[in-house]
Amino acid sequence: MSSFVVALDVGGTSMKGGLVSESGVVLLTERRPTPREEGPDAAVKAIREFISHLAASGDGIPSGVGLAVPGLVSENSAVYSANIGWRDVPAADFTALDVPVRLGHDVQTGGLAENVLGAGQGVDDFLFLPIGTGIAGALILRGEPYGGSAGWGGEIGHIPVFPDGEQCACGQFGCLETYASAASVGRRYSQRAGLSGVKAEEVVASDDPLAVEVWDEAVEALSLALATYTLLLDPSMIVLGGGLAEAGPALFDPVRTRLVKRLAFRDAPPLVPAALGVDAGMLGASLLGWRAAGRPDLGPGWTVNVRSAPLVS
Ligand SMILES: [Zn+2]
Repeated sequence: MSSFVVALDVGGTSMKGGLVSESGVVLLTERRPTPREEGPDAAVKAIREFISHLAASGDGIPSGVGLAVPGLVSENSAVYSANIGWRDVPAADFTALDVPVRLGHDVQTGGLAENVLGAGQGVDDFLFLPIGTGIAGALILRGEPYGGSAGWGGEIGHIPVFPDGEQCACGQFGCLETYASAASVGRRYSQRAGLSGVKAEEVVASDDPLAVEVWDEAVEALSLALATYTLLLDPSMIVLGGGLAEAGPALFDPVRTRLVKRLAFRDAPPLVPAALGVDAGMLGASLLGWRAAGRPDLGPGWTVNVRSAPLVS
């Protein structure tokens, strides 16, 4: 009987689950919707059922369960998620199985995976910045994600970069996320051009002066936030991920140039692309599952290949 953990990455719209063996083999992966419109209790129930279902697909009883969830999180409790609506859900409520469970903040868990298995391997201090619908950051300090005193640490998307700027959905003004998330880039260009539903990747690739302007403001906002982070925490590197990082040199080159220009007395840290893509959260959750099972040593040295794992529906 091989040992494995159940790993689950719970997003606002979908959940990605998997079984991961002791040697890092992703035995299977599966995706399900997150029923958040039905309320927090339904979401917890759906997670519990999904975990039981995944566990039943494995050979024997799982050694542990790891979950990456949004919002404020502690190891043992999902404290609060505006997105899903839950408050103070104990880790044990997420599974009907009598096995150890550990929770992690979704982005921090992705950062943990990038640290142990991805772009940040062997690097103790870096920033993992996924840029998608929103922008959140995982501060990896001395080899571990750092959430601060209450768990709010890493909300880089809500750093005010333009003090007199547009109001953000969070209530503040001029937040990085309002200018530089993929959703914001698409929205800001659409508004300016009198169009609707233009995607960020179309804006990045366009030579329409309005698109150039919107993209330039996004790059400016990012370089300001990254300069601040660099001066505050002196990271070895900055790992950019999420949908917008797929833009490649169109993102990396101008942000790098402007970051270098902003920093006068010190070098800019290298900007590197994330390695694990959308699998980072699930892989990080598997590391949490193994930690819950008393195996914090597992992870380093794994060669993960999620795409070769069978997808069960
Ligand atoms: Zn904000």
